[in-house]
Amino acid sequence: MEVCGTHTMSVFRHGLRSLLPETVDLIAGPGCPVCVTSASHIDSFISIVRQKGVRVATFGDLYRVPGFEGSLAQASACGGRVDIVYSPVDALQKAKDNPSELVVFLGIGFETTVPGVAATIQEAARNKVDNFAVFSTHKLMPPALEALFSDFSLRIDGLLCPGHVSAIIGVSAYEHLADNYSLPCVVTGFEPADILQGIIMLARQKRCCRSIVENAYPRVVTWEGNKNALEMLDSVFQVCDTSWRGFGVIPASGLAIRPEFDLYNAEKRLNIVSKEVDEPTGCRCGSILKGICTPPDCPLFAGRCTPLNPVGPCMVSSEGSCAAYYRYGTVREGKIMDHELQNG
Ligand code: SF4
Repeated sequence: MEVCGTHTMSVFRHGLRSLLPETVDLIAGPGCPVCVTSASHIDSFISIVRQKGVRVATFGDLYRVPGFEGSLAQASACGGRVDIVYSPVDALQKAKDNPSELVVFLGIGFETTVPGVAATIQEAARNKVDNFAVFSTHKLMPPALEALFSDFSLRIDGLLCPGHVSAIIGVSAYEHLADNYSLPCVVTGFEPADILQGIIMLARQKRCCRSIVENAYPRVVTWEGNKNALEMLDSVFQVCDTSWRGFGVIPASGLAIRPEFDLYNAEKRLNIVSKEVDEPTGCRCGSILKGICTPPDCPLFAGRCTPLNPVGPCMVSSEGSCAAYYRYGTVREGKIMDHELQNG
């Protein structure tokens, strides 16, 4: 399983699947931050957009992701104020530029993204920017993997661990997975050679019946991770339960803003209570994120659900499996192949 959506995209973009022997299959995992954002959180985001005097700042990937109540794009079309930003710092600037409005940054993403959000909240506090807040739905990767592999019916032989998350949390964060679930783990970068090297290292472990954590990305990732980034994260956020699309609520898998920073906590400031809602009818994103099925197994794939008219988040996100299969994959003899190599 390649945990990360960036890996999935890179695998397809570079035609790596068609280089692999029949005995090696790659399954996408739960590492696309947009895809794992639950429909209930999307609905909460939309409820914020509908409030008077509030404007929402979000990464572009989230804009068209459907919840039960529609998407941010639809809420914006109905008159809501939604700004696409490239970083939380841009959102803070929006707050400085619009002092009469509350600017709410929608915090999604894993350990990679959170230190930057924490630094922005600290910056807002230092400069007394009171009209800025964050709705944190940030998530931690190891608890989700733990939840995934506690299900012993899942037949995964090894894990390509995400390079960018690992740059923050370190290689050591996966040791318990290798030990407790006899799961070979290799931290891998995103270039084609990085991914192929990771697959070879996993295959070697499998052949020797070993299950340890190895690092195929030492130019970026260390054993202990980025201490400064982890301290920054810890200074503003604390661990909480949170809901994941497809998984439901996973204990201790999310990050909430610490009470000292309540002024910057949009959920508290606006009294937002997220309610669990149903996934879009027929959409199998939840099962895809758990590696139970692949996009072509979804009856809506490439029919009712396309990148122009997405039904679920995995078709919207630039890291989503359904988008990757749609853009780069072709079904041939029951297997997904890659356009580039088939076409020479
Ligand atoms: Fe959901 Fe569309 Fe993917 Fe089906 S093809 S799982 S509806 S995103």
